[in-house]
Amino acid sequence: MTQDTAEQVSPPLTVLSEDELILRESVREFAEAQVRPLVREMDDHAKIPRTLVDKLFDLGVMGIEIPESLGGSGGRFFHAVLAVEELSRVDPSVGVLVDVQNTLVINALLRWGTEDIRQRYLPKLAATSVGAYALSEAGSGSDAFALATRAGEDGDGFVLSGRKLWITNGNEADIFIVFATLNPDAGYRGITAFVVERGFPGFTVGKKEDKLGIRASSTCELILEDCRVPRANVLGEIGKGYKVAIETLNEGRIGIGAQMVGLAKGALQHAIAYTKDRKQFGKPLAEFQAVQHQLARAAVDVEAATLSVYNAARLREAGRPFLTEAAICKILSSEVAERVASLAVNLFGGNGFVKEYPVEKLFRDAKIGQIYEGTSNLQLQTIAKQLLS
Ligand SMILES: Cc1cc2nc3c(=O)[nH]c(=O)nc-3n(C[C@H](O)[C@H](O)[C@H](O)COP(=O)(O)OP(=O)(O)OC[C@H]3O[C@@H](n4cnc5c(N)ncnc54)[C@H](O)[C@@H]3O)c2cc1C
Repeated sequence: MTQDTAEQVSPPLTVLSEDELILRESVREFAEAQVRPLVREMDDHAKIPRTLVDKLFDLGVMGIEIPESLGGSGGRFFHAVLAVEELSRVDPSVGVLVDVQNTLVINALLRWGTEDIRQRYLPKLAATSVGAYALSEAGSGSDAFALATRAGEDGDGFVLSGRKLWITNGNEADIFIVFATLNPDAGYRGITAFVVERGFPGFTVGKKEDKLGIRASSTCELILEDCRVPRANVLGEIGKGYKVAIETLNEGRIGIGAQMVGLAKGALQHAIAYTKDRKQFGKPLAEFQAVQHQLARAAVDVEAATLSVYNAARLREAGRPFLTEAAICKILSSEVAERVASLAVNLFGGNGFVKEYPVEKLFRDAKIGQIYEGTSNLQLQTIAKQLLS
C-alpha cells in the first residue's frame, strides 16, 4: 500500500481520536471514583445526590456540545456517546441523566433555539441546570403526537395546560422542553415545542415513579395549569414541534444505545472478575469451557452492539443519514444489555440474585432500553419501513 492509499483508509470505528481517548479516560476514572461507591445507596434510595450532579457539571459532561464561549465543553456528539457509555458501565441511572441533558435537551436547543434562547439557557445548562424533555403523556406514548397538552395564544405568549408523564430528570431539572398542541384538529401539525422553566407560574412537578430499574434516575409527572410561557420561549417554529421531537429523538436513541452498551460492558466485566475468583469443583468457574464459551458469546454481543452504536454516532456526526442505523443500534444494544446482564446473574449463582452483589441491578436496569425513546416494536417499524421502501 502506498502512503497515499494508506491515508485514504478510514480509521476503524473503535479507534478513538486523541480528544475522544482523553474524554473516555477522564469519565472512566470519575465513574470508578465518584459513582461506583454510591451505586447501591442511590438505587436503594431512588435518588442521585445533588453533590454528584454538581461533580458531573464540574467534570464538564453536562454541557458537552455547548460551545466554550457559552461555558460548555465545546465537544462533539461522539464525546457525549462515550461519556454516557462510561457512566452507564458503572451506573445506567447516572448515564441517562447525562444522556437526556446532552443528546435531547442541549441538542434540541443548539439545533432549534434562537440566539436569544441559546444565550439564556445554554450557559445555565453547562454550569448548574439540569434539563428534561417532556413529550409523553398518559394517553400518548408510542403514538406521541396524539398528545393532549394544550397551548393557547395569550397576548405576547402562550398558556399551557395538561399533564406529562414519565419525564426523566423531572426531580432535578430546572429547564424543560415541553411539547403541546395549539390545535388538536391539526394532528401533528399543531404540535409546538416550548422551553419551560421550573419557576414559571402554573408549572409543578408531580409524583415520582417507583421503578423496576434505573431507580436513581427520577421519572416524574409534570403538571401544567395555565402555565404562562413567553413567545420568545417557542423552540423552533410554531406547528413544527413534531420535527423537533422526531429529529431530536432520532439522535437521542443513539445515546440510549450507548447507555445499553455501557451496561453490557459493566455486566461482562463483573462476570469475568467473579468467574476468575469463584471456585467450584476445585477450580475457578472461568476454567470450565462451558463458562468460557458463555463469556465469549457475551463478548461477541458486546462487540456487535458497540460497533452499531459507534457507527450510528459517527454517521450522525458526519452529517450522513443515520435513522435506520440509530434504530438498529438501539434495538441491538438493548437486547444485548438484557442478555449479558442475565448471563452475569446466572454466573454469579445465588450471589447474582441478591443486592449485595452488583449484577441484579444491571439486569433490572437493562429492561428500560427496550421501552423508552421508542419501544423495540417502534424501532422495528422504522427499520422495516426503510427495508420495504
Ligand atoms: C423510566 C422511563 C423514563 C422515560 N423518560 C421519558 C422522558 O424523559 N420523556 C418522555 O417524553 N417520555 C419518557 N418516557 C416515556 C417512554 O418514552 C414511553 O413509555 C414509551 O415511548 C412507550 O410508550 P407507552 O409507555 O405509552 O407504551 P405504549 O405506546 O402503550 O406501548 C405498549 C406496547 O405496545 C407496543 N405498541 C404500541 N404501538 C404499537 C404499534 N403501532 N405496533 C406495534 N406495537 C406497538 C409497544 O411496542 C409496547 O410494547 C419514559 C418512560 C420510562 C418508563
